[in-house]
Amino acid sequence: MASTEIGHYINGRTVSGASGNTGAVTNPATGAVALASAGEVDAAVQAAAAAFPAWSDTPPLRRARVLFKFLERLNEHRDELAHLITAEHGKVFTNAQGEVSRGIDVVEFACGIPQLLKGDYTEQVSTGIDNWTLRQPLGVVAGVTPFNFPVMVPCWMFPVAIACGNTFVLKPSPLDPSPSLRIAELFKQAGLPDGVFNVVQGDKVAVDALLEHPQVAAVSFVGSTPIANHIYETGARRGKRIQALGGAKNHLVVMPDADITRTVDALIGAAYGSAGERCMAISVAVLVGDVADRLIPELVARAKALKILDGEDLAAEMGPIVTRAGQERINSYIALGVAEGAQLLVDGRNFDGRTAGAGTGTDTSGGFWLGATLFDRVTPEMRIYREEIFGPVLAVVRVKNFAEAIELVNAHEFGNGVSCFTSDGHVAREFGRRIQAGMVGINVPIPVPMAWHGFGGWKRSLFGDTHAYGEEGVRFYTKQKSIMQRWPENISKGAEFAMPTAD
Ligand code: NAD
Repeated sequence: MASTEIGHYINGRTVSGASGNTGAVTNPATGAVALASAGEVDAAVQAAAAAFPAWSDTPPLRRARVLFKFLERLNEHRDELAHLITAEHGKVFTNAQGEVSRGIDVVEFACGIPQLLKGDYTEQVSTGIDNWTLRQPLGVVAGVTPFNFPVMVPCWMFPVAIACGNTFVLKPSPLDPSPSLRIAELFKQAGLPDGVFNVVQGDKVAVDALLEHPQVAAVSFVGSTPIANHIYETGARRGKRIQALGGAKNHLVVMPDADITRTVDALIGAAYGSAGERCMAISVAVLVGDVADRLIPELVARAKALKILDGEDLAAEMGPIVTRAGQERINSYIALGVAEGAQLLVDGRNFDGRTAGAGTGTDTSGGFWLGATLFDRVTPEMRIYREEIFGPVLAVVRVKNFAEAIELVNAHEFGNGVSCFTSDGHVAREFGRRIQAGMVGINVPIPVPMAWHGFGGWKRSLFGDTHAYGEEGVRFYTKQKSIMQRWPENISKGAEFAMPTAD
């Protein structure tokens, strides 16, 4: 393999790409990622299929012991993984460390698999008959993941799937492909048998090959809504179990009684952290009543003062955008917002680190830089309100009262995360009950659930029935079997034609 090429990990070995197709990785240390052909995807699926019988037959406790060793290896290498993220994604190093931590949380959860797979049992369900349910793995399952969390999002999937006894093929984003290969090596060092965890790099060709492959039983997907929709429909048509998490437009509702300084802190971190390239980023601030007049001057000042630096600089609050295409998309949305009549209070276009308010001195001539952007007086008809921009752009919508805020959020096609800042317990309770979204924060701007609670949105933010990780993840990666058993005495009663009943 050429030193600059990032390859696959199949059946316990790193292998170079055979298709000859590659994609650019914008990392000064590397250059190109192999893009798998359908044949290479098949090799990974075959390796996973061959590993399935022995792995699924391994007692859950022994699978958990491998996960415990993997957990140790991850903890030893957590900063190394975070540096790999920062190099290829651009997010600031402390943020990357947080991402690795949240991924490790799911591995810790998966270590509890013997307890999680315990079934239920009814003795004497009918005379002389016992009935119990158990959950068995599906077979080969695939994960397709986005660029914005190259460690955490794969960790939402494969630790739980593998703990349940499945074998796994991961297709990470080609924009930041290296962390998944390192994870595969660490898992092997922990004692994972070859073929249980495989990585194929690639794009649409690889994803379609996974969707079409008859031996892939289920697909977990995280990415944008149009692709999530495509994965769900195509996979379901082929009889696969699918969970497909899509895009978002997350609102933070600010009530007039909210603490202004704390709310501004929350908005700045949630809108501009990771350059807004988070599915749980806050991209709409819904300002209720007169709170806008008190909050906006502080928000403008803080957005202008953001420290936008190379992600490896420990003083950085925000890094660059992942690719030039991403930067251009965000720039065009800012131009669109102006054309639609929104009021541009802070313009992040043409950001120049040498002259920026933060006075950082960053040389921004070579990367994909953008400053924080803030729009006021955005209305629900505007495309900058309706569509996911996925960048450091915060839209302010002003509403008269709480009821109008709820109506606005509930009418949006996305329903991933949502938050309300208030000091009124009744308002908070009503908000939690009435809001149409999968994850709700009360005075918490980014309510990403912990590993044992499960992650998922509503409406067009999730296609499928189960959320990722937590007990929902265990349900997704297993199928229920019910067994009824009778050991009769050696006296035959002849054939029985009625259903067994409790009588
Ligand atoms: P994306 O949809 O472009 O790509 C996601 C994955 O799909 C990648 O592995 C990519 O290679 C693959 N892919 C891309 N085009 C494809 C096609 N035509 N057919 C088949 N596969 C294809 O998303 P992205 O830009 O990598 O990530 C950002 C998006 O992910 C945002 O929309 C964000 O909201 C979303 N996201 C959602 C969640 C969530 O939990 N809901 C979490 C993280 C990111």
